[in-house]
Amino acid sequence: MGWAEVIGEKTSEKIPYTKFETGSTMIRVLDNEPYSYWSHWLNKQQTSVACLKKDCPICGVIAQMKANKETPIYTSSQRHAVRIWNYTTNQMEIMIQGKNFFSQLLTLHKEIGDITTYDIKVVRKGQGTDTTYTLLPSAPKEFDTNDKTIVDVDMEKQFAPPTREEMLLLMEGLTWAEINGNEETVEQ
Ligand SMILES: [Zn+2]
Repeated sequence: MGWAEVIGEKTSEKIPYTKFETGSTMIRVLDNEPYSYWSHWLNKQQTSVACLKKDCPICGVIAQMKANKETPIYTSSQRHAVRIWNYTTNQMEIMIQGKNFFSQLLTLHKEIGDITTYDIKVVRKGQGTDTTYTLLPSAPKEFDTNDKTIVDVDMEKQFAPPTREEMLLLMEGLTWAEINGNEETVEQ
């Protein structure tokens, strides 16, 4: 909100989310601490949605199904996000990963030093649920921001959950496009 949006400075361009291809991708992490949030996976729409935390209807269904000793139709997982520079796509991106990936980053952060002070080679192997990532740190080197567009991201806003009403529509199986009447989607 605000004048920056009116003149198109802030939200004119969407920040892309990182998609690692099989093989190696060199990145520079730009935030030395992740933004963490809980998300639910919607099988039908093949998308995830941020948990509402308070009175979340999906959490409600999960709790009830667990209480009935049924396998919940939704899953919850904690996601972590940081801004990165992707040398392959040559752009700033938001990288979202789970515990496994970020545990490796934390190890580098503790053992090698601040993760924003060196490039990291991300090696992706496998597909789907068999996907594994190996992180290989490079020698510390100042990040050259020349010719690079780096912007701040309000992560709270970026990963804000939908309204309760929207969440209920998603649970009924509607897609974001159907709810909003456009193609606006947030991949979480
Ligand atoms: Zn929830």
